[in-house]
Amino acid sequence: MRKHIVAGNWKMNKTFQEADELIDDIVTCLENDTPDADTLVIVCPPFPYLEMAGDYSDGSYFAVGAQNVSDQESGAYTGEVSAAMLESLEMEYCIVGHSERRAYYHETDEIIARKVNQLLAHGIRPIVCCGEVLQEREENRQFDVVKKQITDGLFHLSPEEFGKIVVAYEPVWAIGTGKTATPEQAQEMHAFIRGLIAEKYGKEVADETSILYGGSCKPSNAKELFSNPDVDGGLIGGASLKAEDFMGIVNAWKK
Ligand code: PEP
Repeated sequence: MRKHIVAGNWKMNKTFQEADELIDDIVTCLENDTPDADTLVIVCPPFPYLEMAGDYSDGSYFAVGAQNVSDQESGAYTGEVSAAMLESLEMEYCIVGHSERRAYYHETDEIIARKVNQLLAHGIRPIVCCGEVLQEREENRQFDVVKKQITDGLFHLSPEEFGKIVVAYEPVWAIGTGKTATPEQAQEMHAFIRGLIAEKYGKEVADETSILYGGSCKPSNAKELFSNPDVDGGLIGGASLKAEDFMGIVNAWKK
């Protein structure tokens, strides 16, 4: 069955020393209180800390991922980081298409599709974000918006390739705002996304795909969100920056 995943997106936060301390704290907590066998914890620090963070990765319940990747293979792309570089650091995961990248760096679904291709070609599993902005929800267009993001960003993949994808539904109005989607809103959208995947790739692929919720998830609301049948975990921003908060969310999976 599909994995439960709690992934921390640190964004552009922490110095090297602070990052080292935070990973050390998280790993110590995980060693003292091992997650359930079907739960995977991922942290996604900024690029310069990936090698250090990767040294903590244990190949079972704790993995490290990047927050972004270039859509190009290599060459004269100043400031970019390629999938081959991430592969050489043994990165297992990479976030793609976060709403901040879509909004501030004008990433389209076509660019996101190319990034997904780059990652898969280098054996890295993409965590692909989708989600509507507030106005789109107010106009009841959230399903159309997410369908387009998923279709244009991912549905060029073969079923085998799609099997490597983790989807993160992140309503943009809930990111960093303290405003969380209700468990009903999350479940409704996650079931919709799983239905799209089933229509395209069949029920087996859909049932194996982990679909994470992101948007002001914290220890106090994680259990309720994660108790929905189609919510397989969370992509966590603000609350991933403190070991205690992050672990509170990881432990929401404990029976
Ligand atoms: C995110 O940016 O992916 C996110 C979910 O942020 P936050 O948890 O802070 O809302």
